[in-house]
Amino acid sequence: MKPSNLYDVVIIGGGPSGSAAGAQLAKSGKRVLILEKESFPRFTVGESLLPHGNDLLREIGVWDKMEQAGFIRKYGAEFSTGDGGRLQRFWFAKNLGQSKEYSYQVERSKFDHILLNHARDLGCEVLEQTRVQDLIQNNPERIELECTGPHGAQSFSSRWVIDASGRNSFAGSRVGLKRKSTQKNRRVAIYGHFEGVFRNSGKAEGHITIARLAEGWFWLIPLAGNRTSVGLVLPAEQMKGGSPDTLKAIFNQAVQANTEVKTRMHGATPITQLAATGDYSWKFSSFASERVILTGDAAGFVDPIFSSGVMLALKSAMSASDLINHADAHDRFLTRWERFTYTREITGWMNQYARIIRAFYDRAGFEVFMNPSSFMKIPGSIGRLVGGDADPSLSDRIRRDAFHVICKIQRFFPIAPAISSLR
Ligand SMILES: Cc1cc2nc3c(=O)[nH]c(=O)nc-3n(C[C@H](O)[C@H](O)[C@H](O)COP(=O)(O)OP(=O)(O)OC[C@H]3O[C@@H](n4cnc5c(N)ncnc54)[C@H](O)[C@@H]3O)c2cc1C
Repeated sequence: MKPSNLYDVVIIGGGPSGSAAGAQLAKSGKRVLILEKESFPRFTVGESLLPHGNDLLREIGVWDKMEQAGFIRKYGAEFSTGDGGRLQRFWFAKNLGQSKEYSYQVERSKFDHILLNHARDLGCEVLEQTRVQDLIQNNPERIELECTGPHGAQSFSSRWVIDASGRNSFAGSRVGLKRKSTQKNRRVAIYGHFEGVFRNSGKAEGHITIARLAEGWFWLIPLAGNRTSVGLVLPAEQMKGGSPDTLKAIFNQAVQANTEVKTRMHGATPITQLAATGDYSWKFSSFASERVILTGDAAGFVDPIFSSGVMLALKSAMSASDLINHADAHDRFLTRWERFTYTREITGWMNQYARIIRAFYDRAGFEVFMNPSSFMKIPGSIGRLVGGDADPSLSDRIRRDAFHVICKIQRFFPIAPAISSLR
């Protein structure tokens, strides 16, 4: 019989990666504790999902609950210029087939709550309003976690720890892993929810719209009811001051300056305060120590233009669960090779997005993205990436490489039509 505060796995954070890892490990019979500092449901950004996450949600058994939650279906994504002069629309069914025909646009408060409750239903113990304060590795067999919760200080012991604490990255540097930046320029996102934002008709109603500006971009994510999440991402130096009034002025000015967004927002009313967060890409150089595994944003953060965050969080959670099950079956902790391959696998997925994000921010790259040549079936391969295919086949890898070569050529010899409004 195990003492009541001794677990097989303690997970720090009850967001998508923590809940998915918890659900998967509980399914395989582990005693799992999830520690979450907030009380759910709680607001957070990251509302647009990708269909490549569907199978992972099916695997942990939560898909039917998603289907019944009343979220709006997302059949694709569209990218436009801020002036509305160019539009590139993707349909998931065209590039991913009928089984991944759609994903969902979700209120994260509700989505994350469904996932956390699902982990509970599968047998995870969950403590909300419980913040992990310290991680102590004195004992070779187990890790101690010191927390503060509604009843004061508490401590728990565990054979394994999964750090799913999001961009807080609680454990990485505490276990000696090194964090490095993967982006030169800092950006900031200002966002809020609005009612009455114009929507596309028919099946495109649930498309995310990304409007590219000269130095940033807007997202418009239609949510259930008449609610739309609207966010503006700009270089951090343009957000100086940062008071609520300054943010509001910058946001409204950008709306007015971009015809596409201005037209869609005409007559819309804010239903939340505008909030702001840094949007800065980085990652750890390794995503695991012998007994601590980082998942989701706690391992690294990728710019959210392509809505890849939740899908990558789910994917890494599944890989981390497999690693733990495999090591336990051999009664040992992670080998150096396992840590290396786990890091390489997730870095590979992140890099698929990092490359296209760089192209998106580059004028020439964006011109090619908005007018991809049908050469070598490149558009289909890019469409699959937009749908969340971070594990491309060899032929898709070659097509994506070709896309990036064309982006480089575009800088010197225009192949795709120029987009003058971005200059
Ligand atoms: C501006 C912006 C827009 C985005 N848009 C999208 C999008 O459209 N689509 C998309 O897929 N992704 C998007 N993302 C990314 C997405 O939000 C994240 O990738 C995703 O939430 C990662 O899930 P996670 O479980 O790793 O971390 P999180 O969702 O951040 O969950 C971590 C949890 O850990 C808890 N926690 C933290 N520290 C502690 C502690 N010490 N003790 C206990 N609990 C703790 C937190 O309270 C939180 O609930 C966006 C991100 C940003 C910044």
